[in-house]
Amino acid sequence: MKVESFSFHVLFFGISRLRLSTFYYLCSAKPSTIIDLSTPITYLPGVGPARAKLLESELRITTFRDLLYFFPYKHIDRTRLYYIHELTSDMPFVQVRGEILSFEEEGRGRKRRLIAHFTDGQGIIDLIWFQATTFKWIQKNYLIGKLYIVFGRPNVFNGRLNIAHPDIDPADALQLGTMGLQPYYTTTERMKKGGLNSRSIERFTKTLFERLHDTGSETMDETLPASLVQQLSLVPLGKSLHDLHYPDSAEALRRATYRQKFEELFFIQLGILRYTRQRQQQVHGHVFAHVGEHFNTFYHCHLPFELTGAQKRVIREMRRDMGSGKQMNRLLQGDVGSGKTLVALMTMLIALDNGYQACLMAPTEILAEQHYDTFCQMLGDMPVRVELLTGAVKGKRTREPILKGTREGDVHILIGTHAVLEDNVEFHNLGLVVIDEQHRFGVAQRARLWKKNLVPPHVLVMTATPIPRTLAMTLYGDLDVSVIDELPPGRKPIETRHFYQERTESLYRGMRAEIQKGRQVYVVYPLIKESEKMDMQDLENGYAELCRVFPDLHISKIHGKMRSAEKDAEMERFVSGETQILVATTVIEVGVNVPNASVMVIQNAERFGLAQLHQLRGRVGRGADQSYCILVTKYNLSQETRQRIDIMCETTDGFEIAEADLRFRGPGDLEGTQQSGMAFDLHIANIARDGQLVQFARDTANRILDEDPNQSRPEYAGMWKHLRELHQDDVDWSNIS
Ligand code: ADP
Ligand code: MG
Repeated sequence: MKVESFSFHVLFFGISRLRLSTFYYLCSAKPSTIIDLSTPITYLPGVGPARAKLLESELRITTFRDLLYFFPYKHIDRTRLYYIHELTSDMPFVQVRGEILSFEEEGRGRKRRLIAHFTDGQGIIDLIWFQATTFKWIQKNYLIGKLYIVFGRPNVFNGRLNIAHPDIDPADALQLGTMGLQPYYTTTERMKKGGLNSRSIERFTKTLFERLHDTGSETMDETLPASLVQQLSLVPLGKSLHDLHYPDSAEALRRATYRQKFEELFFIQLGILRYTRQRQQQVHGHVFAHVGEHFNTFYHCHLPFELTGAQKRVIREMRRDMGSGKQMNRLLQGDVGSGKTLVALMTMLIALDNGYQACLMAPTEILAEQHYDTFCQMLGDMPVRVELLTGAVKGKRTREPILKGTREGDVHILIGTHAVLEDNVEFHNLGLVVIDEQHRFGVAQRARLWKKNLVPPHVLVMTATPIPRTLAMTLYGDLDVSVIDELPPGRKPIETRHFYQERTESLYRGMRAEIQKGRQVYVVYPLIKESEKMDMQDLENGYAELCRVFPDLHISKIHGKMRSAEKDAEMERFVSGETQILVATTVIEVGVNVPNASVMVIQNAERFGLAQLHQLRGRVGRGADQSYCILVTKYNLSQETRQRIDIMCETTDGFEIAEADLRFRGPGDLEGTQQSGMAFDLHIANIARDGQLVQFARDTANRILDEDPNQSRPEYAGMWKHLRELHQDDVDWSNIS
C-alpha cells in the first residue's frame, strides 16, 4: 500500500515535470534533444491513458525504457509464402495468400465457432474463431473475394486442415519482401479484451524506435564498460535493443540476444560477488587453528570404514575455511546416501577440538532423532556430550538440564529441529552450525542463528536435493560450494522399474521375494493438500490391500495426520525390523536411513516431481544389497510424465536428474528458490539453457572485482552506477546469511 501510493506520487510529479518537454520531443519537427527513456509510456503516440493503464497492470510497462526491454518471445520470418497444399499440421507459423469463399457458423454453446473457407486457388483451408462476441465484427471486416494474407499455425481437426484465430491483413497492405523477422510479443487475456495484441505492441515499439532514430537517441549510455564490450565483441547497447525487436537477420538477433543475456547474468553475478567479498572482509569468523584429540581419535579408532575420496576432499575444504579467520558459509551438496552426515560430524569434531560447541539442525523430528542416534553410536565412548532438543523433548525436568548444559558449554553437540532457534536456547560458545536438508530452512531462520553470537558461527548447509551448478551459482552464489560426487564403495546402483497399476500381481511377487530374503519394503503414496481426502483414501486402501495380500507379515503405516509420538513409534517398529513393510506418505521423503530396506514402491508416481522421486528412491540402496525402486503409474500418461519416468529408470545420478528437472519445470518452480532470498527476475537469460554463459558471466565479474576492488576506477564508474540502480529496491543482502 505504502509503496503504491508513493510511486503514484512520483508519477504525478513526473508527469507535470515531463509534460512540456515530452511534448516537445515527440512533436517538434526537428527535435534536438535526446529522448528521456523514463518518460511515461502514456506519452508514446498511439498509447494514451487507457492503454497505458493496461500495459502497466498486465505487463508492468510504465516507461519508454520498460517497453524497450519488453522483448518479443519469438520472431517469425514473414518473407515466405506457402501454398495451402503444402501445409501440414506439424508446421510452425505459416502464411498463405488468397480469398475467403464463404462464412459459416457451426456448433452451439461452448463449441460454437465461426468458419471462413479460404482458398488460394490451389487448395482450401478453414479459418476458425471461437469467441462468439467477435463473429459479427469478423464478418463485417473481412470481405468475401478480397485478397488477404493469412498468418497462423496450421492444425488438423476432424481430418480437415485449419488455422484458428489467424492474423489477417489485406494483401496489398503488407510488403512481405521487406517485412523480415516479425516480432511476437506476449499478451494477456485482459489486454486482448482491451484491444491490445501483439500487433499493437509491435506498433508501439516501431514508433518508439522511429522516435529514437529521429532524435538521434538510439545510441544509449553503455551499461557495460567499454573495454568489456570491445574484448567480448558485444553489440553496443542501443543496437542490441533495436535488434532484439527488429533484427535484419537471424544472426543479428542472435548477437543482440547474446549481449543482453550476458549483461543480465553479468550484473547478477557482479552483485552477488561484490556482496560476498564485502561480507568476507567485514565479518570475521572463529579461527579453528588445529585439528586435535576429538577428530583424530574418531578418525583412527571409531570410523568403521574408509572415507571416500570426495568426503576427504570436502573435509579438507572446510578445514581450510574454518582455519582462515573468515566466516565459513558453505553449501555441501551430495546425492542421497553419499555420506554427508559423517562429514558433518567430523567437521563438528574440529569445532570441539578448538573449544567450541556445534549444533545440527534437521528439518523434522524423526530426522533429528536419527542423527542423534547415529552420532551417539558413532562416537561410542568418546567424551563428547551430545544432546537432542526437539518439540518432542518435553517437560522442564528433561529440557532444563539440556538448556543449562548448552548455556554453560557442557553440551558439546546440540541436535534439534527449529527448537534450537528458540530464544531460551543459549550457547556458551557456538562455533559451527550445520543445517541439514537446506530447502526446509528459510533464510530468516538462518539469520536468527547469526544473532546468537557476536562473532557468527561457521555455517555449513547440506542439501541432497542436487541443484544444477548454474542455478546454484545464481541462487547460492554467495555460498562456497563443496560437492560429494562419489558414493561409498560397494553400493549397487538401484534398479528402477516402471509398472502399470494393473500389474499388481508381479509387483507383490517381487516384494515377497525380497522380504523372504530378509529385506524390508517401503510403499509410498503421494499426499498433496488439495485432494487430501482422496489421497488418504488411496493410502488406506493400499494398506488394507497389502494386509490382505500379506496376512503373514507385519505392516506399518505412517501419515502426516498422525501424532508425532505415534509416527515415531511406527517408524521405530520398521527401523528395528519388527515390521517388514512401511506404508507411508511422503513424510519419509527426507533423510530416513534404514539400510535393510531394499525396495521402494512409489504409488501414483506420475504425481511426483523428479526431485521428489529421486529423494524417495534415495531411501533404499543404503546397504550392500541390490535395491529396487518401483514406479507405479496409471496407464495413460502425458508425454512429460513419461519422460520423467524414463529418466528415473535410466539414471541414478542426482545431478543429471536435477538438470532434467530444471529443463522441465524452469528454475522458478524449484524448491529452494523462494527461500534463497536472492530473488532475481530473468528477462531474457535462462538458467537452464544458458549454463555456460552463467559461468562466463561469473568469471568475468570476478575478474573485474579483482581489477577494481574499491570500485574506484573511472572506466568502471558507469557499470557500478548501473549496478546500484539495479539493486535499488532489492532486499538488503547484508542481512541475509
Ligand atoms: P546422506 O546424508 O548423504 O544421504 P548418510 O550420511 O546418511 O548419507 O550416509 C548413508 C550411509 O552410508 C550411512 O549408513 C553411512 O554410515 C554410510 N557411509 C557414509 N560414508 C561412508 C563411507 N565412506 N563408506 C561406507 N559407508 C559410508
Ligand atoms: Mg542425510
